[in-house]
Amino acid sequence: MVNRERLVREFIELVETDSESGREGKLRDLLMVKLRALGLEVEEDEAGKKVNGESGNLIARLDGTPDKPSILFSAHMDTVSPGVGVKAAIRGETIYSEGETILGSDDKAGIAAILEALRVVKEVGWAHPPLEVVFTVSEEQGLMGSKNLDYSHLSSRSGYVLDGSGEPGTIITRAPCHNEICFEVFGKAAHAGINPEDGVNAIQAAARALADLELGRIDKETTCNLGIIEGGRARNIVPGYCRIVGEARSLSRERLQDLTGIMVEHFRHRVSEYGAESQVQVEMLYPEMDLQPDDPVIKLARQAVVNLGKNPVLESTGGGSDANVFNGKGIRCANLGIGMQSVHTTDEFIHIKDLVDNARLVVEIIKEAGRT
Ligand SMILES: [Zn+2]
Repeated sequence: MVNRERLVREFIELVETDSESGREGKLRDLLMVKLRALGLEVEEDEAGKKVNGESGNLIARLDGTPDKPSILFSAHMDTVSPGVGVKAAIRGETIYSEGETILGSDDKAGIAAILEALRVVKEVGWAHPPLEVVFTVSEEQGLMGSKNLDYSHLSSRSGYVLDGSGEPGTIITRAPCHNEICFEVFGKAAHAGINPEDGVNAIQAAARALADLELGRIDKETTCNLGIIEGGRARNIVPGYCRIVGEARSLSRERLQDLTGIMVEHFRHRVSEYGAESQVQVEMLYPEMDLQPDDPVIKLARQAVVNLGKNPVLESTGGGSDANVFNGKGIRCANLGIGMQSVHTTDEFIHIKDLVDNARLVVEIIKEAGRT
């Protein structure tokens, strides 16, 4: 069964191995050794080159009962900064960093749970389906690892990402699709004092176009923001250029595309009314995750949570994770809450109980999948 001391020791070893985004090499080496020791076949894909990082994604597999479909478990190797020189500190039943850095339970609590579960499955010797494990890089850089993953190396059609907020037992089934929208205004530069009448003020054109855009929470499923504005060269020059970067997210793809279309149309119209020109670029950063409660992958997770004596809580979130990308690639994939708290801050912590429950949950999923 899940070995608490072994799990805590390994979690600390993982968080004390530096792996800020793009610098995952040391952790990759450590995980390769661990996965091979557990009997998995491991390879590294080419994503490192594509994202300019030290390491690619790790893809590992463990054979299982051949007539069962394989299941994917995934977590990300990289952390945000400050993540160099992490020292774990156990106070009571909780693990913190010593305060100068993040802890990195995001997402090493996920990695630790997967490793411990594989160890338990090996020790007990249950029949289990084929298992695939993916440890991604550069998740914190806009899901760059999972976006550049070599999917031809994966055969799973369903799986679990262990990278959610909420206690173990939380199953995130829905997350928004996300568009980045880059608006550019081209006016005409001129001297502000000598011949302003020859200029077209790109900043004012942008201001008119942006002033009545609806922002913030648009509806229950949809949000919208303008986050960056830049333009102009000097106080005494009529600005010839201005650029605005914004975003829209929605749980509904249709709603997202409608809203984006309306914003782009409105912007273009107002800018041209002003006498300037515009260019707008829309990029979908990741697709939505939208799994129904009775989807087999959700049912399996719910049953595993119940087996642990807990109540499954199905949630939707406003953020994206590797699970969005996997779903977009046709792998039905939920994101499991792993109990990490105050992530991306130096106050980050995790309760040991949650570390243990994460591993127990993965064990239960594997066990349940072997049974059904
Ligand atoms: Zn994460």
